[in-house]
Amino acid sequence: MKVFAIANQKGGVGKTSIAVNLTATLAHYGQRALLIDLDPQGNATTGSGIDKNGLEKSLYGVLLGEYDVVSARVRAQGNYDVLPANRELAGAEIEMIQIERREYRLKEALASVDADYDYALIDCPPALNMLTVNALTAADAVIIPMQCEYYALEGLSDLVGTLRKVKANLNPKIEIEALVRTMYDPRSSLTTQVSDEIKSHFGDKVFDTVIPRNIRIAEAPSFGKPVIMHDPTSRGALAHFAFARELLGRQGVALPEVSV
Ligand code: ADP
Ligand code: MG
Repeated sequence: MKVFAIANQKGGVGKTSIAVNLTATLAHYGQRALLIDLDPQGNATTGSGIDKNGLEKSLYGVLLGEYDVVSARVRAQGNYDVLPANRELAGAEIEMIQIERREYRLKEALASVDADYDYALIDCPPALNMLTVNALTAADAVIIPMQCEYYALEGLSDLVGTLRKVKANLNPKIEIEALVRTMYDPRSSLTTQVSDEIKSHFGDKVFDTVIPRNIRIAEAPSFGKPVIMHDPTSRGALAHFAFARELLGRQGVALPEVSV
């Protein structure tokens, strides 16, 4: 199982959207995928069609060692599993302070399902807190969604700093897998300018595929569906198919040419 943390401490940059849609698209391409909702807002849970308020078990109890991943995971319509979350998870941050090896809770919990999945994707909260540290400790690599706007790079330096600390102290193998430009508007000259700047900093870590600003992507969560189920021929869905193909291609996974 390869674990990706979808991280950026800014809110509203498209983390949850990328996490839900990438997981669903990887499942579409035959990969066994797990989506881990590490944000107390529970948007990845809801966006996968799971009622976050009716959960009997959730990631909260898993992190506190009350039960295991197998008993808390839920199957989503899109043929992937979800480790769901809701507001309870905010309490885990505080309760974990008293727990030993607290940075390793998620990593240790995921060990039991290592053989069940090809990919696990962690939807991080918009903060560099203990939950995010758990994600970065559990992950093989990070996928950073970003909007090409003026302050985008400034925010990235904090994340890169945190990554460096995690790499030095908790998880030597962590690396940046991808920077994904999302809510992309090619008509804006600022977009092009920031885009060029990101590329000069991060080189080929910047994926060629961009996710456009697209109404179908924005409305899909209100139907509890990934965009590839909500409207599979929309520009947003096509971009997500291309994004997953680029990711899998870079992993060396061969896909048939034509299947969308
Ligand atoms: P984050 O998880 O980083 O806070 P979200 O994924 O929740 O960000 O996205 C913030 C808002 O923007 C949500 O309302 C989401 O539906 C919307 N959104 C995300 N990606 C796109 C896109 N490519 N096009 C249009 N709207 C988007
Ligand atoms: Mg989110």
